[in-house]
Amino acid sequence: MGDTIVAFSTDVLIVGAGPAGLAAALAATAQAGVTVTIIDENPAPGGQIWRGGSGQWRDSRAQALWDTLSQRTNLRIVYGARIVGRFGEQEFLLETADGAQTIRWEKCILCTGARELLLPFPGWTLPGVTGAGGLQALIKGGMPVKGKRVVIAGSGPLLLAVADTARRAGAMVVTIAEHRSTGELMSFFLALLRQHRGKFLQAIKLFWSLKQIAYRHDARVIKATGEQQLSSVSLQHGSKTLDLPCDFLACGFGLLPNPELGGLLACHIDEGSIQVDAHQASSQPAIWAAGEACGIGGVDKALAEGHIAGLAATGQTISDDALARRDQARLFAQLLNSSFAADERWRHLCQPDTLVCRCEDVSAQQLALHGDWRSAKLMTRAGMGACQGRICGAACQFLFGWQAPGMRPPVFPVKVSTLAALGTIGADHKQ
Ligand SMILES: Cc1cc2nc3c(=O)[nH]c(=O)nc-3n(C[C@H](O)[C@H](O)[C@H](O)COP(=O)(O)OP(=O)(O)OC[C@H]3O[C@@H](n4cnc5c(N)ncnc54)[C@H](O)[C@@H]3O)c2cc1C
Repeated sequence: MGDTIVAFSTDVLIVGAGPAGLAAALAATAQAGVTVTIIDENPAPGGQIWRGGSGQWRDSRAQALWDTLSQRTNLRIVYGARIVGRFGEQEFLLETADGAQTIRWEKCILCTGARELLLPFPGWTLPGVTGAGGLQALIKGGMPVKGKRVVIAGSGPLLLAVADTARRAGAMVVTIAEHRSTGELMSFFLALLRQHRGKFLQAIKLFWSLKQIAYRHDARVIKATGEQQLSSVSLQHGSKTLDLPCDFLACGFGLLPNPELGGLLACHIDEGSIQVDAHQASSQPAIWAAGEACGIGGVDKALAEGHIAGLAATGQTISDDALARRDQARLFAQLLNSSFAADERWRHLCQPDTLVCRCEDVSAQQLALHGDWRSAKLMTRAGMGACQGRICGAACQFLFGWQAPGMRPPVFPVKVSTLAALGTIGADHKQ
């Protein structure tokens, strides 16, 4: 167990085959004589927004990028491999279906994307309740929703993208409950019109395609109800309470960067994202980062940053145009983040008996007895389950202001055989 380890090496390792990783690979592979490897835990390229790989994509940029990349002979892509640990200076441990592997690299570009911020409210652990992006990922992965009643709640443009995916898959979207008030939404759309006309037109097109669906402003989920499975959702809409029967509730409270590998490599992390300079270089030599991992901002920012990181890591010239495109995409990201930031009022959704750590069944009132994450973790086991604090750690940070837990290697739950491999490698390194 754990004694056969496949090891390989590359000049440039890109972690993540989302828009940032693919753009980085396109730029890096343009440098002749450089070997580039992309590693992704998913079975196909595309990351979150372009999930499912070529053939599933409706964004023509994805297909164009992929068509060019497929011609590059200095690129290798490894799917179904998750980086879980580091040893030595420039070597990672990977977990794959075929066992543990290692990869050595000269330069590394972290394009590890984002995950959803999941906030607790009564009934949020019922089967049928997911994150907004989570439901979208399930549908893109083939989960049938034809004829199913779907309520989408939370805040931000992801709610519209999810409604569009659900509608196309044949679901009946009962309503989109947007937490922001009509005034707040108007300010956002006016700013979009003034500063990002292309995005404004995209939004209008999306709204038009969703015109049959009730889009409620100033509306928020209060509770999800059901015996074994979700059967209805209660919403507060202005001064009214609505009870809506449904099969799925998808809640989008925002996204959080995935900085674990940056942490593993001792890169400077601030407010949960990997910090980079103007050329996407991290605080550590030979390590760059791009996309959501260094700040939530959407696909345009991911593409622009990935492009710059790929050029920088291979010593190519970065044009002023590339920097300007990235800066413009970051302005849009700032507008999004300020318009749809997590709202203090979401704290009140969580009741004393609501489970916050769903892996270890720990309620809000049990956690509230503690002053910080460490004490809560030691006394209640919060954060010690399968998610390793990825969900409840962020929820506790939001609810109680506690510093989210740091990650220790392996940074994801792993098979015993992978841990055994880590021991073998450790022994090899000491020889
Ligand atoms: C659930 C979800 C749904 C979303 N849906 C939309 C949408 O419909 N429209 C939209 O505009 N934006 C959407 N977004 C926002 C989205 O993150 C960006 O628009 C875009 O995908 C960011 O690109 P990226 O390359 O930075 O990250 P991602 O696209 O997230 O790609 C990161 C990749 O890194 C891989 N990875 C991470 N860690 C490891 C590891 N340790 N080992 C191996 N592989 C690893 C992941 O498997 C993933 O494929 C969504 C985000 C989430 C979280």
